[in-house]
Amino acid sequence: MKTSKLGAEAVKIETGGTVMLGFPRLADSKVLSHAISTRVGGVSQGTHGSLNVSFKVSDDPLRVEENRELLSRATGMDLKKAVWVDQIHGDKILKLDAKNSPKGGTLGEADGLITQTAGVPIMIQVADCLPVLFYDPIHKAIGLAHAGWRGTVTHVAAKTLLAMGENYGTRPEEVRAALGPCIGPCCFEVGEDVRIQFADVFPWAAEVMEGSTKDHWKLNLSEANARQLIEVGVKKENLIRSELCTIQNIDLFYSHRAEASAKKQTGRMGVFMMLEN
Ligand SMILES: [Zn+2]
Repeated sequence: MKTSKLGAEAVKIETGGTVMLGFPRLADSKVLSHAISTRVGGVSQGTHGSLNVSFKVSDDPLRVEENRELLSRATGMDLKKAVWVDQIHGDKILKLDAKNSPKGGTLGEADGLITQTAGVPIMIQVADCLPVLFYDPIHKAIGLAHAGWRGTVTHVAAKTLLAMGENYGTRPEEVRAALGPCIGPCCFEVGEDVRIQFADVFPWAAEVMEGSTKDHWKLNLSEANARQLIEVGVKKENLIRSELCTIQNIDLFYSHRAEASAKKQTGRMGVFMMLEN
């Protein structure tokens, strides 16, 4: 295993040719396993090259299974048991517990997933959208949120945290939240329609949007979610940021915006968390 610093607070972990990211400040690996996969070290071909974890982007399912197997070995989590949600850019949060615990697979459509169940990896999938990883060390609870600009406007990250509060007693001031790689303010150009929706719900909208050309703005998705979480009580010092742009680091990450078109799709990075027993 080889590790090196990457971005603001992430580390790049290379094991057996498979490359992942982690956040040393999120949690001790004895209590919580976590990883964000990259596109490096898998068996997928073409625009899916090479470590795609998604069965929904027209990749060969056998290659996706092999990629997940490679990641099981690299992360030490049995990803055959992984539970995920089918993401729809909304604000619904699902809970994994003893009652609905499947033997691996989807819980249904949602963009947030929370649990206190140990030994079962939870997962979301990203390619430009921001993944947020929550860890509550007091109540031993975890959560994942998938936030593109739509999810950000609907407060999906804050709602994931609130759902942890309602279900597990999680208090925002005790939570650590890691913001993974996403499309950065350097590359994320949005139009007037998006600016208006942000301005409608966030008093600080103008501070996360820089004007570039007329009617076009550069949106800082990561900063918008950081502010949203601070507003509901997350401490600044408990926010762990990667500050990595998917497009600027296209050799390491998939970017839907840079790579996908009507004719071809790109792959997805997996974001995994699992409470240890
Ligand atoms: Zn960028």
